[in-house]
Amino acid sequence: MLLNSIYSFHFYIEIIARLELREENSFDIIIAGGGAAGLSLAFRLANSEFANLKIAIVDPEIKQGIDHTWCSWIAEDSIFDDCATNFFSKIKFVGEGINQVFDIAPYRYRMISSAEFYRVTNEAIDNWKHITRFVNRINKIEALGDKAVVVLDNGTSIYGKNVIKSYIDDPKKLKETNKLYMDQHFKGWFIKTAEDRFDTEECTFMDFSIDQKGETRFMYVLPIDKRNALVEVAIFSNKILQHEEYDGIIEDYIENTLKINSFEITETEYGIIPMTAGPLELNQSNNITLIGTAGGGVKASTGFAFERIQRQCDAIVHCIRNKKSLSTDVFPSRFTYYDATLLHVLLSGKMSGKEVFSSLFQKNKPQQLLKFLDDKTNFWEELVIMYSTNKVKFGTSFFSAVISK
Ligand SMILES: Cc1cc2nc3c(=O)[nH]c(=O)nc-3n(C[C@H](O)[C@H](O)[C@H](O)COP(=O)(O)OP(=O)(O)OC[C@H]3O[C@@H](n4cnc5c(N)ncnc54)[C@H](O)[C@@H]3O)c2cc1C
Repeated sequence: MLLNSIYSFHFYIEIIARLELREENSFDIIIAGGGAAGLSLAFRLANSEFANLKIAIVDPEIKQGIDHTWCSWIAEDSIFDDCATNFFSKIKFVGEGINQVFDIAPYRYRMISSAEFYRVTNEAIDNWKHITRFVNRINKIEALGDKAVVVLDNGTSIYGKNVIKSYIDDPKKLKETNKLYMDQHFKGWFIKTAEDRFDTEECTFMDFSIDQKGETRFMYVLPIDKRNALVEVAIFSNKILQHEEYDGIIEDYIENTLKINSFEITETEYGIIPMTAGPLELNQSNNITLIGTAGGGVKASTGFAFERIQRQCDAIVHCIRNKKSLSTDVFPSRFTYYDATLLHVLLSGKMSGKEVFSSLFQKNKPQQLLKFLDDKTNFWEELVIMYSTNKVKFGTSFFSAVISK
Protein backbone atom coordinates (compact mmCIF):
# COMPACT_ATOMS: atom_id res chain seq x y z
CA MET A 1 0.00 0.00 0.00
CA LEU A 2 2.73 2.40 1.13
CA LEU A 3 4.87 1.32 -1.81
CA ASN A 4 1.96 2.00 -4.17
CA SER A 5 1.52 5.52 -2.82
CA ILE A 6 5.24 6.18 -3.20
CA TYR A 7 5.19 4.94 -6.80
CA SER A 8 2.09 6.98 -7.65
CA PHE A 9 3.62 10.07 -6.01
CA HIS A 10 6.69 9.77 -8.22
CA PHE A 11 4.54 9.02 -11.27
CA TYR A 12 2.54 12.19 -10.55
CA ILE A 13 5.72 14.28 -10.13
CA GLU A 14 7.07 12.81 -13.39
CA ILE A 15 3.88 13.80 -15.29
CA ILE A 16 3.92 17.31 -13.82
CA ALA A 17 7.61 17.55 -14.69
CA ARG A 18 7.02 16.61 -18.33
CA LEU A 19 4.15 19.12 -18.61
CA GLU A 20 6.10 21.92 -16.99
CA LEU A 21 9.56 21.25 -18.36
CA ARG A 22 9.63 24.20 -20.64
CA GLU A 23 12.60 26.21 -21.74
CA GLU A 24 11.85 29.20 -19.48
CA ASN A 25 11.85 27.22 -16.25
CA SER A 26 14.77 24.91 -17.01
CA PHE A 27 18.24 25.87 -15.83
CA ASP A 28 21.73 24.44 -15.90
CA ILE A 29 22.30 25.55 -12.33
CA ILE A 30 19.86 26.61 -9.63
CA ILE A 31 21.44 28.29 -6.61
CA ALA A 32 19.03 27.62 -3.76
CA GLY A 33 19.63 30.25 -1.08
CA GLY A 34 21.17 33.64 -1.73
CA GLY A 35 23.13 34.35 1.45
CA ALA A 36 26.92 34.32 1.85
CA ALA A 37 27.39 31.01 0.02
CA GLY A 38 24.79 31.42 -2.75
CA LEU A 39 25.89 34.97 -3.56
CA SER A 40 29.60 34.02 -3.45
CA LEU A 41 28.94 31.34 -6.04
CA ALA A 42 26.64 33.50 -8.20
CA PHE A 43 29.25 36.28 -8.15
CA ARG A 44 31.85 33.89 -9.58
CA LEU A 45 29.43 32.79 -12.30
CA ALA A 46 28.40 36.36 -13.18
CA ASN A 47 30.79 36.86 -16.05
CA SER A 48 31.21 36.14 -19.75
CA GLU A 49 33.00 32.82 -19.18
CA PHE A 50 29.74 31.32 -17.91
CA ALA A 51 27.32 33.29 -20.12
CA ASN A 52 26.42 30.06 -21.98
CA LEU A 53 24.92 28.63 -18.76
CA LYS A 54 21.37 29.34 -17.63
CA ILE A 55 21.53 30.06 -13.93
CA ALA A 56 18.82 30.81 -11.36
CA ILE A 57 19.24 32.09 -7.82
CA VAL A 58 16.34 31.69 -5.39
CA ASP A 59 15.90 33.37 -2.02
CA PRO A 60 12.83 34.85 -0.31
CA GLU A 61 14.66 38.17 -0.11
CA ILE A 62 17.30 40.18 -1.89
CA LYS A 63 19.79 40.55 0.90
CA GLN A 64 21.01 44.00 1.79
CA GLY A 65 22.37 45.96 4.73
CA ILE A 66 24.24 44.83 7.80
CA ASP A 67 23.23 41.45 9.18
CA HIS A 68 26.67 39.82 9.32
CA THR A 69 30.26 40.93 9.64
CA TRP A 70 32.53 38.24 8.23
CA CYS A 71 36.11 38.03 9.44
CA SER A 72 38.75 35.65 8.16
CA TRP A 73 42.53 35.45 8.21
CA ILE A 74 44.06 35.40 4.77
CA ALA A 75 47.69 35.26 3.69
CA GLU A 76 47.25 36.29 0.06
CA ASP A 77 45.10 38.62 -2.01
CA SER A 78 41.66 37.11 -2.15
CA ILE A 79 38.24 37.41 -3.71
CA PHE A 80 36.07 40.03 -1.95
CA ASP A 81 39.11 41.94 -0.63
CA ASP A 82 37.46 44.96 -2.29
CA CYS A 83 34.48 44.55 0.04
CA ALA A 84 36.65 44.73 3.16
CA THR A 85 36.02 47.39 5.77
CA ASN A 86 39.42 46.78 7.35
CA PHE A 87 42.45 44.47 7.49
CA PHE A 88 44.20 43.94 10.84
CA SER A 89 47.86 43.00 11.11
CA LYS A 90 47.62 42.33 14.86
CA ILE A 91 45.11 40.35 16.88
CA LYS A 92 44.63 40.39 20.64
CA PHE A 93 43.81 37.28 22.65
CA VAL A 94 42.70 37.49 26.29
CA GLY A 95 42.17 34.30 28.27
CA GLU A 96 43.30 32.38 31.33
CA GLY A 97 46.84 33.58 32.16
CA ILE A 98 47.21 35.29 28.80
CA ASN A 99 46.59 38.84 27.57
CA GLN A 100 48.63 39.26 24.44
CA VAL A 101 48.71 41.02 21.09
CA PHE A 102 50.08 38.90 18.24
CA ASP A 103 51.51 40.03 14.94
CA ILE A 104 50.01 37.52 12.52
CA ALA A 105 52.02 38.22 9.33
CA PRO A 106 51.86 36.86 6.68
CA TYR A 107 48.16 36.64 7.59
CA ARG A 108 45.87 39.64 7.76
CA TYR A 109 42.59 39.47 9.61
CA ARG A 110 40.02 40.74 7.13
CA MET A 111 36.68 42.27 8.12
CA ILE A 112 33.87 42.31 5.55
CA SER A 113 30.55 43.99 6.15
CA SER A 114 27.56 42.20 4.67
CA ALA A 115 26.23 45.55 3.39
CA GLU A 116 29.15 45.94 0.95
CA PHE A 117 29.25 42.22 0.10
CA TYR A 118 25.52 42.19 -0.73
CA ARG A 119 25.84 45.39 -2.77
CA VAL A 120 28.74 44.08 -4.87
CA THR A 121 27.38 40.56 -5.42
CA ASN A 122 23.80 41.66 -6.16
CA GLU A 123 25.00 44.30 -8.60
CA ALA A 124 27.08 41.69 -10.46
CA ILE A 125 24.17 39.24 -10.61
CA ASP A 126 21.72 41.86 -11.89
CA ASN A 127 24.16 42.88 -14.64
CA TRP A 128 24.09 39.46 -16.32
CA LYS A 129 21.17 38.18 -18.37
CA HIS A 130 22.13 34.52 -17.98
CA ILE A 131 21.27 34.75 -14.26
CA THR A 132 17.59 34.88 -13.30
CA ARG A 133 16.53 35.82 -9.82
CA PHE A 134 13.49 34.27 -8.09
CA VAL A 135 12.50 36.18 -4.96
CA ASN A 136 10.56 33.38 -3.32
CA ARG A 137 10.87 30.73 -0.66
CA ILE A 138 11.66 27.18 -1.78
CA ASN A 139 9.11 24.69 -0.54
CA LYS A 140 10.99 21.57 -1.57
CA ILE A 141 13.77 20.25 -3.75
CA GLU A 142 13.68 16.76 -5.21
CA ALA A 143 15.91 14.72 -7.46
CA LEU A 144 14.09 13.84 -10.68
CA GLY A 145 15.94 11.59 -13.10
CA ASP A 146 18.90 13.52 -14.43
CA LYS A 147 17.50 16.78 -13.02
CA ALA A 148 16.20 18.20 -9.78
CA VAL A 149 12.93 20.02 -9.32
CA VAL A 150 12.72 23.09 -7.10
CA VAL A 151 9.18 23.90 -6.00
CA LEU A 152 8.63 27.48 -4.89
CA ASP A 153 6.08 28.65 -2.32
CA ASN A 154 4.08 30.36 -5.08
CA GLY A 155 3.58 26.98 -6.76
CA THR A 156 6.09 27.48 -9.58
CA SER A 157 8.40 24.57 -10.31
CA ILE A 158 11.81 25.16 -11.83
CA TYR A 159 14.17 22.47 -13.02
CA GLY A 160 17.91 22.34 -12.77
CA LYS A 161 20.56 19.99 -14.07
CA ASN A 162 22.28 20.95 -10.84
CA VAL A 163 20.84 22.48 -7.69
CA ILE A 164 23.30 24.00 -5.22
CA LYS A 165 21.69 24.46 -1.85
CA SER A 166 23.06 26.40 1.13
CA TYR A 167 20.27 26.55 3.72
CA ILE A 168 19.20 23.93 6.24
CA ASP A 169 15.59 22.76 5.90
CA ASP A 170 14.92 22.15 9.56
CA PRO A 171 17.50 23.61 11.98
CA LYS A 172 15.45 22.37 14.96
CA LYS A 173 15.60 18.76 13.75
CA LEU A 174 19.33 19.08 13.15
CA LYS A 175 19.74 20.11 16.76
CA GLU A 176 17.60 17.25 18.05
CA THR A 177 19.18 14.49 15.99
CA ASN A 178 22.87 15.33 16.38
CA LYS A 179 24.52 14.35 19.64
CA LEU A 180 27.49 16.58 18.91
CA TYR A 181 25.65 19.83 18.37
CA MET A 182 26.05 23.30 19.78
CA ASP A 183 24.63 26.67 18.76
CA GLN A 184 26.90 29.63 18.40
CA HIS A 185 24.91 32.77 19.01
CA PHE A 186 26.10 36.32 18.54
CA LYS A 187 24.99 39.84 19.08
CA GLY A 188 27.02 42.88 18.12
CA TRP A 189 26.76 46.64 18.50
CA PHE A 190 28.35 49.02 16.04
CA ILE A 191 29.36 51.93 18.22
CA LYS A 192 30.55 55.45 17.53
CA THR A 193 32.62 57.09 20.25
CA ALA A 194 32.91 60.80 20.99
CA GLU A 195 36.73 60.66 20.90
CA ASP A 196 39.38 58.62 19.09
CA ARG A 197 39.43 55.30 20.93
CA PHE A 198 40.45 52.56 18.51
CA ASP A 199 43.65 51.39 16.87
CA THR A 200 42.75 50.43 13.30
CA GLU A 201 45.77 48.09 12.98
CA GLU A 202 44.66 45.86 15.84
CA CYS A 203 41.49 44.00 16.72
CA THR A 204 40.43 41.89 19.67
CA PHE A 205 40.11 38.37 18.27
CA MET A 206 38.80 36.70 21.43
CA ASP A 207 38.46 38.12 24.92
CA PHE A 208 37.35 35.50 27.44
CA SER A 209 37.57 37.88 30.43
CA ILE A 210 33.75 38.17 30.61
CA ASP A 211 31.68 36.04 33.01
CA GLN A 212 31.53 32.60 31.35
CA LYS A 213 28.35 31.46 33.22
CA GLY A 214 29.51 27.86 32.78
CA GLU A 215 29.56 28.24 28.96
CA THR A 216 32.05 29.42 26.35
CA ARG A 217 31.65 33.17 26.00
CA PHE A 218 33.94 35.70 24.44
CA MET A 219 33.90 39.24 23.10
CA TYR A 220 35.50 40.55 19.96
CA VAL A 221 36.19 44.11 18.92
CA LEU A 222 36.65 45.11 15.28
CA PRO A 223 37.61 48.75 14.75
CA ILE A 224 36.40 50.37 11.53
CA ASP A 225 38.21 53.65 12.17
CA LYS A 226 39.41 55.51 15.26
CA ARG A 227 35.87 56.23 16.46
CA ASN A 228 33.81 53.36 15.09
CA ALA A 229 33.95 49.69 15.96
CA LEU A 230 31.89 46.54 16.16
CA VAL A 231 31.77 45.13 19.68
CA GLU A 232 30.26 41.64 19.67
CA VAL A 233 29.60 38.81 22.10
CA ALA A 234 29.78 35.20 20.86
CA ILE A 235 28.44 32.32 22.94
CA PHE A 236 28.83 28.58 22.37
CA SER A 237 25.85 26.98 24.09
CA ASN A 238 22.47 25.48 23.42
CA LYS A 239 20.73 28.13 25.51
CA ILE A 240 19.76 31.14 23.41
CA LEU A 241 19.51 34.35 25.44
CA GLN A 242 16.99 37.18 25.37
CA HIS A 243 18.22 40.24 23.44
CA GLU A 244 18.45 42.27 26.67
CA GLU A 245 20.91 39.74 28.07
CA TYR A 246 23.31 40.08 25.12
CA ASP A 247 22.87 43.86 25.31
CA GLY A 248 23.76 43.82 29.03
CA ILE A 249 26.98 41.86 28.34
CA ILE A 250 28.04 44.20 25.52
CA GLU A 251 27.26 47.36 27.48
CA ASP A 252 29.14 46.11 30.51
CA TYR A 253 32.17 45.23 28.36
CA ILE A 254 32.22 48.63 26.63
CA GLU A 255 32.00 50.52 29.92
CA ASN A 256 34.11 48.37 32.21
CA THR A 257 36.67 46.70 29.94
CA LEU A 258 37.04 49.17 27.07
CA LYS A 259 36.39 52.03 29.55
CA ILE A 260 34.26 53.88 27.04
CA ASN A 261 31.42 55.88 28.57
CA SER A 262 30.42 58.15 25.76
CA PHE A 263 29.19 56.36 22.67
CA GLU A 264 26.16 55.82 20.47
CA ILE A 265 24.93 52.59 18.87
CA THR A 266 24.72 53.02 15.10
CA GLU A 267 23.72 49.46 14.06
CA THR A 268 23.31 46.00 15.56
CA GLU A 269 23.75 42.47 14.22
CA TYR A 270 22.49 39.18 15.58
CA GLY A 271 22.52 35.56 14.49
CA ILE A 272 22.71 31.88 15.38
CA ILE A 273 24.77 29.27 13.55
CA PRO A 274 24.94 25.50 14.04
CA MET A 275 28.22 23.98 15.22
CA THR A 276 28.09 20.29 14.51
CA ALA A 277 30.34 17.60 13.14
CA GLY A 278 27.38 15.34 12.47
CA PRO A 279 25.44 14.93 9.23
CA LEU A 280 23.65 18.08 8.09
CA GLU A 281 21.21 17.72 5.21
CA LEU A 282 20.55 14.21 3.97
CA ASN A 283 18.82 14.70 0.62
CA GLN A 284 22.02 14.98 -1.38
CA SER A 285 21.83 13.31 -4.78
CA ASN A 286 24.02 13.64 -7.85
CA ASN A 287 22.00 16.69 -8.91
CA ILE A 288 21.82 18.36 -5.50
CA THR A 289 25.05 19.73 -4.05
CA LEU A 290 25.26 21.26 -0.60
CA ILE A 291 27.41 24.26 0.25
CA GLY A 292 27.61 26.86 3.02
CA THR A 293 25.86 26.08 6.28
CA ALA A 294 24.05 23.08 4.76
CA GLY A 295 27.25 21.70 3.26
CA GLY A 296 29.50 21.72 6.32
CA GLY A 297 30.82 25.19 5.50
CA VAL A 298 30.56 26.29 9.14
CA LYS A 299 33.58 24.95 11.02
CA ALA A 300 32.17 22.88 13.85
CA SER A 301 34.74 23.93 16.44
CA THR A 302 34.84 27.70 15.80
CA GLY A 303 31.87 28.77 13.66
CA PHE A 304 34.15 30.41 11.08
CA ALA A 305 32.66 29.86 7.64
CA PHE A 306 33.31 32.65 5.17
CA GLU A 307 36.67 31.43 3.83
CA ARG A 308 35.53 27.82 3.90
CA ILE A 309 32.56 28.82 1.76
CA GLN A 310 34.94 30.47 -0.72
CA ARG A 311 36.86 27.20 -0.96
CA GLN A 312 33.63 25.30 -1.67
CA CYS A 313 32.63 27.83 -4.34
CA ASP A 314 36.08 27.65 -5.98
CA ALA A 315 35.75 23.86 -6.08
CA ILE A 316 32.35 24.10 -7.79
CA VAL A 317 33.62 26.59 -10.35
CA HIS A 318 36.58 24.30 -11.03
CA CYS A 319 34.17 21.43 -11.73
CA ILE A 320 31.95 23.56 -14.00
CA ARG A 321 34.98 24.82 -15.92
CA ASN A 322 36.29 21.28 -16.38
CA LYS A 323 32.84 19.79 -17.11
CA LYS A 324 33.04 17.44 -14.12
CA SER A 325 30.26 16.45 -11.75
CA LEU A 326 30.03 19.01 -8.98
CA SER A 327 31.99 18.26 -5.84
CA THR A 328 32.85 20.28 -2.74
CA ASP A 329 35.24 17.84 -1.19
CA VAL A 330 37.64 20.49 0.11
CA PHE A 331 38.00 19.73 3.82
CA PRO A 332 40.29 16.82 4.77
CA SER A 333 38.16 14.40 6.79
CA ARG A 334 40.58 14.12 9.74
CA PHE A 335 39.72 17.74 10.64
CA THR A 336 36.07 16.73 11.08
CA TYR A 337 37.28 14.41 13.85
CA TYR A 338 39.34 17.17 15.47
CA ASP A 339 36.29 19.47 15.39
CA ALA A 340 34.09 16.71 16.81
CA THR A 341 36.66 16.14 19.58
CA LEU A 342 36.62 19.78 20.64
CA LEU A 343 32.82 19.82 20.55
CA HIS A 344 32.79 16.73 22.75
CA VAL A 345 35.24 18.29 25.22
CA LEU A 346 33.00 21.36 25.52
CA LEU A 347 29.65 19.54 25.57
CA SER A 348 30.83 17.02 28.16
CA GLY A 349 32.11 19.86 30.33
CA LYS A 350 35.61 18.36 30.56
CA MET A 351 37.11 21.72 29.76
CA SER A 352 35.71 25.16 29.00
CA GLY A 353 36.36 26.97 25.73
CA LYS A 354 38.24 29.56 27.77
CA GLU A 355 40.66 26.89 29.04
CA VAL A 356 41.06 25.22 25.64
CA PHE A 357 41.68 28.34 23.56
CA SER A 358 43.89 29.91 26.28
CA SER A 359 46.13 26.88 26.34
CA LEU A 360 46.27 26.74 22.53
CA PHE A 361 47.27 30.42 22.28
CA GLN A 362 49.81 30.14 25.11
CA LYS A 363 51.62 27.15 23.68
CA ASN A 364 51.52 27.66 19.91
CA LYS A 365 52.47 30.35 17.43
CA PRO A 366 49.26 32.10 16.30
CA GLN A 367 50.15 31.50 12.64
CA GLN A 368 50.26 27.75 13.28
CA LEU A 369 46.94 27.85 15.09
CA LEU A 370 45.29 29.84 12.31
CA LYS A 371 46.68 27.39 9.76
CA PHE A 372 45.30 24.52 11.86
CA LEU A 373 41.88 26.17 12.20
CA ASP A 374 41.91 26.56 8.40
CA ASP A 375 42.35 22.76 8.01
CA LYS A 376 45.67 23.40 6.25
CA THR A 377 48.30 21.94 8.60
CA ASN A 378 50.03 18.64 7.92
CA PHE A 379 49.77 15.71 10.29
CA TRP A 380 53.08 16.49 12.07
CA GLU A 381 52.04 20.08 12.71
CA GLU A 382 48.74 18.77 14.06
CA LEU A 383 50.54 16.42 16.45
CA VAL A 384 52.44 19.40 17.92
CA ILE A 385 49.17 21.30 18.42
CA MET A 386 47.47 18.26 19.97
CA TYR A 387 50.43 17.83 22.29
CA SER A 388 49.72 21.34 23.63
CA THR A 389 46.20 20.35 24.75
CA ASN A 390 45.17 18.23 27.73
CA LYS A 391 46.07 14.83 26.26
CA VAL A 392 43.90 12.68 28.53
CA LYS A 393 40.74 14.79 28.16
CA PHE A 394 41.17 15.29 24.42
CA GLY A 395 42.22 11.66 23.90
CA THR A 396 39.10 10.25 25.59
CA SER A 397 36.89 12.78 23.83
CA PHE A 398 38.44 11.81 20.50
CA PHE A 399 37.26 8.21 20.96
CA SER A 400 33.81 9.30 22.17
CA ALA A 401 33.50 11.66 19.21
CA VAL A 402 34.45 8.92 16.75
CA ILE A 403 31.75 6.68 18.25
CA SER A 404 29.09 9.45 18.30
CA LYS A 405 29.67 10.56 14.71
C1 LIG B 1 26.18 37.37 13.29
C2 LIG B 1 27.09 36.41 12.60
C3 LIG B 1 28.44 36.71 12.50
C4 LIG B 1 29.30 35.81 11.83
N1 LIG B 1 30.62 36.14 11.75
C5 LIG B 1 31.44 35.34 11.04
C6 LIG B 1 32.81 35.70 10.86
O1 LIG B 1 33.30 36.69 11.38
N2 LIG B 1 33.59 34.88 10.09
C7 LIG B 1 33.10 33.75 9.51
O2 LIG B 1 33.85 33.06 8.81
N3 LIG B 1 31.82 33.37 9.71
C8 LIG B 1 30.99 34.14 10.45
N4 LIG B 1 29.68 33.76 10.61
C9 LIG B 1 29.23 32.43 10.12
C10 LIG B 1 28.94 32.32 8.60
O3 LIG B 1 29.90 32.99 7.84
C11 LIG B 1 27.59 32.79 8.23
O4 LIG B 1 26.61 32.10 8.94
C12 LIG B 1 27.31 32.68 6.71
O5 LIG B 1 26.36 33.63 6.47
C13 LIG B 1 26.82 31.31 6.21
O6 LIG B 1 26.47 31.43 4.84
P1 LIG B 1 25.27 30.60 4.18
O7 LIG B 1 25.09 31.09 2.80
O8 LIG B 1 25.50 29.18 4.43
O9 LIG B 1 24.02 30.98 5.06
P2 LIG B 1 23.21 32.34 5.02
O10 LIG B 1 24.12 33.49 4.80
O11 LIG B 1 22.38 32.33 6.25
O12 LIG B 1 22.30 32.18 3.72
C14 LIG B 1 21.28 31.22 3.61
C15 LIG B 1 20.25 31.83 2.67
O13 LIG B 1 19.25 30.85 2.39
C16 LIG B 1 18.02 31.53 2.36
N5 LIG B 1 16.96 30.56 2.62
C17 LIG B 1 16.62 29.96 3.79
N6 LIG B 1 15.58 29.14 3.62
C18 LIG B 1 15.26 29.20 2.31
C19 LIG B 1 14.25 28.58 1.52
N7 LIG B 1 13.37 27.69 2.04
N8 LIG B 1 14.18 28.89 0.22
C20 LIG B 1 15.08 29.76 -0.35
N9 LIG B 1 16.04 30.37 0.35
C21 LIG B 1 16.13 30.10 1.67
C22 LIG B 1 18.11 32.60 3.42
O14 LIG B 1 17.18 33.66 3.18
C23 LIG B 1 19.56 33.05 3.26
O15 LIG B 1 19.69 34.15 2.39
C24 LIG B 1 28.80 34.61 11.28
C25 LIG B 1 27.45 34.31 11.41
C26 LIG B 1 26.60 35.20 12.07
C27 LIG B 1 25.16 34.83 12.18
